[in-house]
Formats: sequence, C-alpha cells, structure tokens
Amino acid sequence: MHVSTTKSMHARQRTLPVGKVTLTGGFWHEKQAINRRVSLRHGYRMLGQSGNLNNLRLAVGAGEGAYRGPVFMDSDVYKWLEAASLDLANVADPELEALVDEVIALVAAAQQPDGYINSYYQVHKQPEERWTSLDHDHELYCAGHLFEAATAHHRATGKRDLLDVACRFADCIDGIFGPGKRDGAPGHPEIELALVELYRETGEQRYLDLAVFFIDARGKGRMRGYGRWGAAYHQDHVPVRQASEVVGHAVRQLYLTAGVADAYLETGEQALMDALLRLWHDATGRKMHLTGGYGARHEGEAFGHAYELPSDECYCETCAAIAAMMWNWRMLLATGDPRYADTLERSLYNGFLSGVSLDGQRYFYVNPLQSRGGIARPEWYGCACCPPNVMRQIALVGNYMATTDATGVQVHQYASATIEAAVGDGRVVLEMETRYPWEGRVKITVAEAGAESWTLALRIPGWCEHTALRLNGDIIAGGASDGTYASLTRVWQPGDVVELDLALSPRLTAPHPRVDAIRGSLAIERGPLVYCLEEEDQENGVDLLDVCLAPNAELGAMWQEDLLGGVVTVAAEGRVADVGDWEEQLYRPVSAPETDARPVKLIAVPYYAWANRMPGTMRVWIPTHSGLT
Ligand SMILES: [Zn+2]
Repeated sequence: MHVSTTKSMHARQRTLPVGKVTLTGGFWHEKQAINRRVSLRHGYRMLGQSGNLNNLRLAVGAGEGAYRGPVFMDSDVYKWLEAASLDLANVADPELEALVDEVIALVAAAQQPDGYINSYYQVHKQPEERWTSLDHDHELYCAGHLFEAATAHHRATGKRDLLDVACRFADCIDGIFGPGKRDGAPGHPEIELALVELYRETGEQRYLDLAVFFIDARGKGRMRGYGRWGAAYHQDHVPVRQASEVVGHAVRQLYLTAGVADAYLETGEQALMDALLRLWHDATGRKMHLTGGYGARHEGEAFGHAYELPSDECYCETCAAIAAMMWNWRMLLATGDPRYADTLERSLYNGFLSGVSLDGQRYFYVNPLQSRGGIARPEWYGCACCPPNVMRQIALVGNYMATTDATGVQVHQYASATIEAAVGDGRVVLEMETRYPWEGRVKITVAEAGAESWTLALRIPGWCEHTALRLNGDIIAGGASDGTYASLTRVWQPGDVVELDLALSPRLTAPHPRVDAIRGSLAIERGPLVYCLEEEDQENGVDLLDVCLAPNAELGAMWQEDLLGGVVTVAAEGRVADVGDWEEQLYRPVSAPETDARPVKLIAVPYYAWANRMPGTMRVWIPTHSGLT
C-alpha cells in the first residue's frame, strides 16, 4: 500500500518517505488514534479467534485442530502486519511492535526451505499441488500482501526480517513463473503492485520483470470465472493493453489497474497509460457511486453495466474503495493531474470511511447508499479482507497529503500535519493547521524554508467554487481556481504563512440522467463529504421512503459537537408525502393527484458516520418528486 516513487523514472511527483507526514490534530489524527488504540488491537485478537494465526501455526507443525477459513486467510495477517508497521512509523508503540515481531516470527517459521509460504496449501495440500489453481486459490494474492507488508515494515522500522521472508518467496515464485518457465497469472490481482514495490525497495529488477510478466499473462481467457461470469470476472477476457471497460470483480479490477499504473511508473510504456486512461474514464464516468464506491452488483462482487448504479442493492465493497484510492494515487503520481486527488478524496471521506464504525471495532464489507433498515456492522467477517485493509489505509492516510517534484512541494489533501520534504538540496518543513473537512480554512506555516526558490502548490478541489489565497496576510489575486493547484513561487522564509480558504457551502448534486435507479433524485454534499438521511435524525413519523427535496431547497450547515463524534449536519427544507390509502394495491391506473406533500425539515449527516446508532433506514439520494403530484 505504501508507494515510493522517489526513484521512479516516469513519476511526475515523488512520494514522501514513511514517517515524513505526521498528523498533529483534527479529523484524521483522531481516526489514526482510534485505529491504533482500538482497531489494531481488535484485529490482532480477531486473527487469533478466527484461526488465521492458528493456520500458520499448523503450517509450522504446531497449532491446534484443523485449518479454518477461506484460502486467503494468510492475507489478512499480512494486511494487519502492514497496518501495524505503518502505524509504528506514526507513533512509537512498544506493545504493538512486540505483537508485530511475534507475528513476523510465526510467518518466518512457516516459510518452507524453498521460500514457499501459504498455510492453506501447506496444511491441506501436497507440494505438487501448488500453483495448480491460479484462478481461484489466491497463492499469488497472498504472496502480494506479504510483499506489501514486508516493504512497509522495512520502511517503517528499518528491520529486514519480514523483507527477507518476502524476498525468499519472491525468488521462489520467480524461479517458477516467467518467460521460458511456467505461464499463468493470478486469478486475483495484487501481486503485480506488490512486486513493483518490492523492486522499489530492493532494486531487484527481476521483481519488476515478474510484475510485468503477470500483467502480460492476463487476457488469454484461461480463467474459469465465477457463477455466470466467465473470464471477465478475473479481467482475463482481454489483454490489459486492449482493455477499455472496468468489468468483473471490482476489487480484482482495481488492484489490477493499480498494479498496471505501478508498472507504468517504472517502465513509462505509453500503451499501459493509454489503457489506464480508458479504464479510468469508464470507472469514474459510468460506474462509480457518488461515495467513490465501486461494484454495482452483489453477484460476483462486480461492476455492472454503464450507469447501473443502484443505491440499495449495490455492493461498494470497502476494499474496492481502497483499491480505487490506490489506483488514483498512482495516477496522480504519474501525471500530476489533481483530478486524481479529487477522486481519491471522494472515496477516502465516503465510500472508504463508511467501512469502519466510529468506535473502530465494527466493519462494513458492503456499503449501500440506501438502507431499508436492519443493517448493522459486524465486528469481523468470515471473509475478512476489509477490516485489516481499513486499518492499513488509516495508518497510511498521512502519506496522501503531499508530494514533491523538481519545482517544490504539492499539498493534495488537507489535515493538521507536519510535512517534511527534501526540495533541491534543502529541507523544507511545513506546519499545516485546519479543521478540514468541517471548515475550509487551511493555514500553512513555513517552519524550515530550504535554501532556494521553490513552489508551494495547493490543490483546489473540483467541488470548490470560491477560494481565497493569502500570503503573509496579503490576498493573492487569481491564485486559485477549482480543479487546479494554486501555486506560489518564491524564496521562502521561516515564518511565512499561506492561508487558503475553501468555501464549504452545502450543495445539491444531481446524477447523470441515465442512472435510472436514482433519476430525478438529488444528494446533499458539503466539501468532500457526501451526506445521507438517517431515520433517527428525522421528525417523528417521517418515513424516508416518502421524503422529497426540491432543486432549490434551502440548506443550512451546523456544527454539532455531541453528535456522531462531532459532525457538521445539514438541514434541508424538504417535503414528506402523504401517500394516502392504496388499499393494498401496489399499482393502479394513472389518476389526478390525490394527496399533497407537507413541508418538513430534513437533517442530513455525513454518510461515513451512518449505522453507528440504531439500525434504521438511510438514504443518500432523495427524490425531487413525491411520485404523487
Ligand atoms: Zn474486502
């Protein structure tokens, strides 16, 4: 998950090393504290309770009972290791580090002399059965998560023990797969991006070559698919360079595109970027939910047709939002285009963050945009890909804040943080203070200025229509417009202050008319946040199935300290229809309007915070019409 483009030949922007962005307060600082205090401990317990750690012990020859869980149980251990490692770079935590060391020792003990490690195969199968079910058995997927954990652990702690395990396994795989060796690709992409990261960390060219080999080995129609899905379920229906639509299992598709973007960052192959751009336009222009969630269908956890974006029966797996952020981050690094940071931000604050409860110990796998009631978060899942994925993403969120290039520093996301960056031969330290996403003022103080002239570039989100930029109190005219970076170039002095004001008025958003599931509906947004109506906040007797909202509805925002951990709510002047007596008919002849809608004040809360109280009804999209008049 942690990307390092510090040496990538085709990166427009360089990532900052692990630990160089320190969150100092506010929204994400609080999320990271809960992640550390609650989620990572909870995750360790659940890996114990669910059998993941016991499976590895069985592979060592210890352990009790039988292998438990699906074939990819090891990957949850690796994701937890990655999350905990990344958080150790945020805050020293000897107790957590001891748990990390204990789990790494277990993983290392389970590794076989030839480098192979997969507890399912080691416990359940014979050695000759390895690599015989590439499309469904996740050996390469689990390996990829091991490689990601290992690079993160090495970067965060400087320790090589897990990296050595990963390299031995990568060497084992490289000895089996490749030109002139065994052909094939993983049914669940993941190892591609992980091998590129392992290459970045070790400088070992074979790992990059193997990543490209696995990308090239797709698209030959050899995989069996799932249910009525054929090879497209695995994105094996067409070679990557010819692909123009995101299809099949959403997480598979999005991990694949992230890996292809990594390959582009190292090779600069234009055909890969051309394919990525086609896929990105299809994903974000036709198949993305407003929340930055992906996957319209439960069947196959898959993308649907263009504009098939139902609110209630959508899938929007938490992992798909995470994978989409990983892809958009790489696209940003490759191009420097702020629309990728915009798209990342949409998933980050909405379709991703809804995947974890406010208390940090309950999770959503599926993230619908409408609930008819009765949906609550479990504390874990039999297929628990999402919870540890949430943990690693929150531990890493600071890394999305800023990058550098030859001209200076780019700030992409706003949070109270200290940012350390190398610019030219100098060291730059920025102190950023903000109450974002609740307030739009961002104050950046230059603490260390470096020696030369350089450019500070601040992303102006695409949703933001009014901005103001000040340098040491003086307004900078024409300094900022939406969807770009506001740039200031000068010889900076310690103590220089830049203030950016992003207007955060609540706004109404309409869907493309072809999204017929929500045609004629509107959503409330404010800044990067998508809002929803939850039953609990509405006046007594208001059924969320009956509410509607006019396009010119008055909206008002209010900070509420004691609600949902502190949120800005949005009040909207809406209406609620009296549907009258249909005498138990579901359909009837068209007739003149019989009933009116009465005014009602609707209260909206941030979507990410839904389902933290009673499991009532919820909706993001609100019809403009009662259906009766
Ligand atoms: Zn998942």
